[in-house]
Amino acid sequence: MNTIDLRSDTVTKPSKAMLEAMFSAEVGDDVFNEDPTIIELEKFCAELFGKEAALFCPSGTMTNQIAIKVHTQPGDELVCDVNSHIYNYEGGGISFNSGAQAKLLQGNEGRLTAQLIEPNINLDFDWLTRTSLVSLENTVNRAGGSYYTVEQIKPIAELCKKNNLKLHLDGARIFNALEESKDSTQETGKYFDSISICLSKGLGAPIGSLLLGEKEFIKKARKVRKIFGGGMRQAGILAAAGLYALKNNVTRLKEDHDRAKKIGQELSKLSYVESVLPVYTNIVIFNLRSEIITGAAFEKKLSDNGIKVSAFGKHTIRMVTHLDFDDAMMERTIGVLKGLI
Ligand SMILES: *Cc1c(COP(=O)(O)O)cnc(C)c1O
Repeated sequence: MNTIDLRSDTVTKPSKAMLEAMFSAEVGDDVFNEDPTIIELEKFCAELFGKEAALFCPSGTMTNQIAIKVHTQPGDELVCDVNSHIYNYEGGGISFNSGAQAKLLQGNEGRLTAQLIEPNINLDFDWLTRTSLVSLENTVNRAGGSYYTVEQIKPIAELCKKNNLKLHLDGARIFNALEESKDSTQETGKYFDSISICLSKGLGAPIGSLLLGEKEFIKKARKVRKIFGGGMRQAGILAAAGLYALKNNVTRLKEDHDRAKKIGQELSKLSYVESVLPVYTNIVIFNLRSEIITGAAFEKKLSDNGIKVSAFGKHTIRMVTHLDFDDAMMERTIGVLKGLI
């Protein structure tokens, strides 16, 4: 029995075609800016979002943390939702790397609005923390893959501009968001000072994230990347996987969303499921009726049936659909869920 892994969309393995693209990549020393495949990937992504430049990094944590470092000074405050990856899952990097602090807001399913942000921009008094950055996440991982539309982002961007704040996008799953919102990459790019995108989530590359922005910003970001230890050498073999992913694995994301939605529907009919968060993209988060089954027991039962999921809280489970999860696997998963108790 093959294992079905729904813990994250990071579990995908490079396909044969992707490996071939990696194998034949032209490479050079990227610290000297001489890796043609990395240069091609950076140019491709920058142009895709209408930005001047891009920077290839090992992880989305690094691209986010570099952006925070460049946009803030020690002692500054950034504004983000309480569910943000930058706050919850980057090891305290906001303070560790940048000496900055986070003002956490409770958004609607992880989404902030201009009305929510405005009263949290500090006035310019000696005794107040300087607010310098707003960070949005699209899609929102911890809030069940909810997404912003460009219409929702616009007023936030205007507020930031008016108050001299930078606006960063943690777009680890931006292509999942755009698949549902039907907004374009060009339109998205207009509103942010920096954008982080991940190649190793739904797009199926083994590694890699990009930071996008204007030339001056990326120049500073390159320096911070080196300081953070992220300057790589012949990493064009990795960039080739990223280019392959961007050219071949974006339009198919809809399949992942359809499968996640189907699983969500089936879960909501089961007696041991208390509630399922709305399924917007490829993330399904649901709560179990703890008097019937605990999160740990559920995880164990599924694991005995060859299905891996993550416990997201004591009675909360997360499943993420991805490139290596097909219809047959979905049917098997639904069958196991139905017969579990
Ligand atoms: C995965 C993820 C990141 C980056 O994670 P890495 O594992 O460091 O690449 C950033 N933001 C969000 C919302 C994510 O889901």
